[in-house]
Amino acid sequence: MGKLFVISAPSGTGKTSLIHATLEDKNAEKTKLGISCTTREKRAQEKNDESYFFVSKEEFDEKIKNNEFLEYAEVFGNFYGTPKEWVLNSLSNKENVILELDIQGALQVKEAFPETKTVFIIPPSYNDLSSRLEKRSQDTEEEIKKRLMEAKREIFIGQKFDQIIVNDDFEKALHDLKQFIFSGDTLSPERKGITDDSLNLLLD
Ligand code: 5GP
Repeated sequence: MGKLFVISAPSGTGKTSLIHATLEDKNAEKTKLGISCTTREKRAQEKNDESYFFVSKEEFDEKIKNNEFLEYAEVFGNFYGTPKEWVLNSLSNKENVILELDIQGALQVKEAFPETKTVFIIPPSYNDLSSRLEKRSQDTEEEIKKRLMEAKREIFIGQKFDQIIVNDDFEKALHDLKQFIFSGDTLSPERKGITDDSLNLLLD
């Protein structure tokens, strides 16, 4: 069996870039990223069947009825679900699977498969998260406020994940993530100290 990893993070933490860079590593040959189904609108740079399988709400409901999802959740008003058969087939083919899920999905997968390794990526501070959300110019001021409030709730839950990684510096966070995924290594004492400090600040 391959290993199953679930990676979650508050919106704007840099999770997607970290995951994509991890998958470009030479050790990632047997590691794949799951493609989810979603009812949300396709963004300009996204391709169907590559970023997501974009489906209608009716198609999504049909898949729920047919028990096709390992988990599904509503995130910011859209539905997202992980195709069960693809994940289970990949794992039995000894491939490692990374799922990029929201926090509810991560908890559901961990409950169904306790051997899943859960990773939670945190920003170094709310100020940092706020400026990243502003820089990506994807959301209105109102939405940014909502995402920051949601981040607080997510971090409270995410602190219990198997591994917490702080994205204070992209290369350092990438190193931490690769070490955990490819070697099962936890953080160096220095990185652990920085991560704990950020987490305490965010939970304050
Ligand atoms: P976005 O719309 O920005 O691509 O994703 C919004 C959120 O939905 C992100 O936190 C992303 O990780 C999460 N997400 C993507 N696919 C799934 C899925 O299949 N299940 C769950 N629970 N969350 C997902």
